Amino acid sequence: MVVEQLEPRGIVDPRVLEAMEWVPRHEFVPPELAGLAYEDRALAIGPEQTISQPYTVAFMCQEARLAAGDKALEIGTGSGYGAAVLALLAREVHTIERVESLYREARDRMRRLGYRNVHCYLDDGTAGLAREAPFDAIICTAGAEQMPRAYFEQLAVGGRLIIPVGPPSQQQMYRVTRQGEHFERESLGSFGFVPLLGNIERG
Ligand code: SAH
Repeated sequence: MVVEQLEPRGIVDPRVLEAMEWVPRHEFVPPELAGLAYEDRALAIGPEQTISQPYTVAFMCQEARLAAGDKALEIGTGSGYGAAVLALLAREVHTIERVESLYREARDRMRRLGYRNVHCYLDDGTAGLAREAPFDAIICTAGAEQMPRAYFEQLAVGGRLIIPVGPPSQQQMYRVTRQGEHFERESLGSFGFVPLLGNIERG
């Protein structure tokens, strides 16, 4: 997976490559799909929900420019795979999921696999997680129609928000970097995500 799918497509951060090599992706998919876990594709993990393609997870982590001491927030826990990769790149990971069955499974999986620096929450992630803010990185793994204002407010100075924005399955990925009270936006290319649901107050 790392040599065939990630390195040739521009994943070069050695920490990200190492984390992708380390996390057992087959543990995060339904047993009947374990044989496909390392294929270059997203997989269904439940009603209209997916575990992101390995490349997409690696890309978002690389673009988030994580340092080992960082505190990170993920919106859309899903299977917990992305949170597990983040757990190896950051000091502390907080991850929010709105579907209860996915939240429970991911929380139990994190415990079983020993990812002690991952904290799972069942909630609408469009409001972020004010009580744990500020975050050095916020990674939104569902496509937002608009950028939620809470994510801007909860970003540390120097912090990075990685978020796909646009209609379902045709989003543009953005990196928003906080420089004091100024937010710099960069477009990082096209991706297809399931929609971010909930009450979005625009940022
Ligand atoms: N990071 C996941 C990918 C999940 S796909 C993984 O590695 O497996 C996106 C997830 O976002 C879905 O599980 C979906 O239920 C969740 N989601 C959508 N809107 C949400 C919201 N408002 N708050 C929290 N989670 C949300």
